[in-house]
Amino acid sequence: MRVAFLGLGAIGTPMAVHVAKAHQLTVWNRTRARADAFAAGHPCTVAGTPREAALGAEVVITCLPTSADVEGLLEGPDGLLAGLSRGTLFLDCTSGEPEASRRIGGRLAALGIVFADAPVSGGTNGAEAGTLTVMVGGTEETFRRARPILECFGRRVELMGPLGAGDAMKAVNNALLAANLLAVGEGLAALVKNGIPAAKAVEVLNASSGRSFVSEVLVPERVLTRLFPLTFRLALLDKDVRIAAGFLEQQGVSGPMLHLTSALLAQARASLGEQADYLEPVRLIEQEAGVELRA
Ligand code: NDP
Repeated sequence: MRVAFLGLGAIGTPMAVHVAKAHQLTVWNRTRARADAFAAGHPCTVAGTPREAALGAEVVITCLPTSADVEGLLEGPDGLLAGLSRGTLFLDCTSGEPEASRRIGGRLAALGIVFADAPVSGGTNGAEAGTLTVMVGGTEETFRRARPILECFGRRVELMGPLGAGDAMKAVNNALLAANLLAVGEGLAALVKNGIPAAKAVEVLNASSGRSFVSEVLVPERVLTRLFPLTFRLALLDKDVRIAAGFLEQQGVSGPMLHLTSALLAQARASLGEQADYLEPVRLIEQEAGVELRA
């Protein structure tokens, strides 16, 4: 199939690599050099504009920071709308906002273009391995069409409900990740301050009921090693938790835990900046406690 992929960022790039293996791929990236570098290593065509990428594409995939960025890409003489044709399947893998996805979907439906929100989870490692979880919002018919494409990079591809349901699922998932990250950081800082070696505390935690993906994978691989690699920007996690807090409000769930998580992440983002990795708030907890979580 002719597939266009727009947004070769940290996660979009390894996702597009899998698409290139199975389909006739066209890529577009705002910074052209990134698209050219991608094309040097993978079979694909580079489009000069979103419009050019969409022309003739049977499937369009976007993976941008926010829904607002996706809406921005639709507009103008070089925008996606100028190139999309009736019947095209448009899959937005951005971790977006449910309301925005419903808005985009409605607008595209009026033009005969089929849209679904399809955010992913599993990180850049999962994207490289092709084992992402993909959370889809759309109709069952759209899902049937989308599934084989999403399975290029997804191991678990699930229809969560109508438009926006994928975004809601993803936002709640990431809010839980964020809450857990902060809580694990705080608990371990206190244990280390009390004289318990960080590695031992993590080992015992991981043999006990408080363990989690954060304690089993992220802390041992990225914190105790002091590697803190940049794989997912804190700014994007902050955006996700805000979306989750807004979603809880819409559902009439007061959600004090997730609101507090959102406030703490916003503070961390203000202090660490737009390029910091999402594990960096652990460093702030360490600084405040006067300890380091080191193996
Ligand atoms: P990055 O910040 O690494 O990359 C963002 C990409 O979007 C770049 O290609 C950038 O282009 C492009 N871009 C940014 N703003 C615009 C714009 N206004 N118009 C057009 N293109 C734009 O983000 P990620 O790849 O990490 O994340 C993408 C999405 O995937 C986000 O919604 C994120 O929450 C989600 N996600 C990320 C994960 C991760 O581990 N990184 C895991 C799961 C989901 P340029 O090269 O010009 O900067």
